[in-house]
Amino acid sequence: MSDVIIIGGGPAGSAMGAFLSKAGISNLILEKAIHPRPHVGESMVTSSTRVFKELDFLPVLEREGFVHKYGASWHAPNGKEFAIEFGEFPQPGVDQDYTYHVDRSRLDLLLLKHAESLGSKVMQGVTVKQVLFDGDWAKGVRIAVDGVEVDLPCKVVVDASGRNTLLGNQLKVKVKDPIFNQYAVHAWFEGVERGKEEHTADFIHIYFLPIERGWVWQIPINDTITSVGVVADKNVLKDYRQDIEAYFNMGIQSNPDLETAMCNAVRINDYKAEGDYSYTMSSFVGNAYVCIGDAARFVDPIFSSGVSVALYSAKYASEQIRLAFETGDFSEAALKPYEEKLRSGVNVWYEFIRLYYKLLPLFTHFIQSKAHRIEVLRLLQGEVYNRGEVPVLDAMRKYIESVENADKHLLKDKLTSIPID
Ligand SMILES: Cc1cc2nc3c(=O)[nH]c(=O)nc-3n(C[C@H](O)[C@H](O)[C@H](O)COP(=O)(O)OP(=O)(O)OC[C@H]3O[C@@H](n4cnc5c(N)ncnc54)[C@H](O)[C@@H]3O)c2cc1C
Repeated sequence: MSDVIIIGGGPAGSAMGAFLSKAGISNLILEKAIHPRPHVGESMVTSSTRVFKELDFLPVLEREGFVHKYGASWHAPNGKEFAIEFGEFPQPGVDQDYTYHVDRSRLDLLLLKHAESLGSKVMQGVTVKQVLFDGDWAKGVRIAVDGVEVDLPCKVVVDASGRNTLLGNQLKVKVKDPIFNQYAVHAWFEGVERGKEEHTADFIHIYFLPIERGWVWQIPINDTITSVGVVADKNVLKDYRQDIEAYFNMGIQSNPDLETAMCNAVRINDYKAEGDYSYTMSSFVGNAYVCIGDAARFVDPIFSSGVSVALYSAKYASEQIRLAFETGDFSEAALKPYEEKLRSGVNVWYEFIRLYYKLLPLFTHFIQSKAHRIEVLRLLQGEVYNRGEVPVLDAMRKYIESVENADKHLLKDKLTSIPID
């Protein structure tokens, strides 16, 4: 029997396994797919580097030759482009001025193997059907292998099942986001013109679309392959009669820079669609269980925060679990500090995203302003944890209020319907 059972071998589950194995806590990762399996979420933020370093995983990322990501570039529909570089603000505990773009099927396989090399047991092709409870205490999981169901006991269950949100669904604690209902269609292409300057070609490029909350990502996967994804409110799909290719083409044709970048592009795999992806669990922990990564909360991916949240949730939750093994207290109260830490960090992401969508020109203004640039950059690096106050978000909020309250303001017609109270 393993002390901890981890449901899911994505970045959250594998990082959890690696942290626990390093701490000498026996753990079993159950993954329903057989890796490598494709996955959306290909661009990292630099705060991830700190966790990869702690897990001794940076040499693997370098050995495997994942694309180095030095910065990000935004393209307005009027052709204006502006960029940031992560190296502008050195991050404590991070010794490199770049992060990575990844083929997730390879990254996730390597992370899972890394956890295994540190001592985690791994079973692939095993679906967890449910978490078993004795009253309100998690006691293990029920798995299905080749149609046979088996119960596995453990001391702590970790739900890292991603957007499947196994435990959130089982306990009915999943709460859909009241504001965001985005829909993404994406594919890989060859022949994308990645940037006017060679230096920025391997940045992530974000193209604004002239529709509410509409944008496109351009992420280099290797020298020749580029991931391109169109994102907008799900209602826009109705205008295209649920035709995802037409929806995708709408995105490409709505920004002239992007249309140019894509003019010689050839698609090399099927379009994939992702929807209903903003939500939170009303609670991330309970007696003898925790939810991490997307299984705890998912915020809109505009700032590439997902894998970083997965890694930090694994780090913070594993610290709490380690403490629980020391004290013998696995209660909800004992595990709660993890939830508080994660929630406050992800709340910073959420607020940043909300203000961004409320008034797009404000983001471009702040990122170019001497007074705010570094603080916005710190957020884009993923420095959202243990922050207390985040003054730049207050400044953004105040600016928006001043636009809302002014009789006339150049940006007034750029305000979207997103509530910011
Ligand atoms: C449109 C879109 C774009 C995105 N872009 C980015 C980006 O650029 N950068 C970024 O960092 N993030 C991005 N993300 C987010 C990113 O995909 C996730 O945040 C990240 O994959 C979370 O990792 P995870 O380990 O929590 O979940 P996952 O990576 O989903 O892993 C969960 C694992 O659990 C397994 N599983 C599920 N159910 C069960 C079960 N019952 N039994 C056993 N195993 C199970 C699954 O097979 C899977 O392997 C994006 C997301 C979307 C929707």
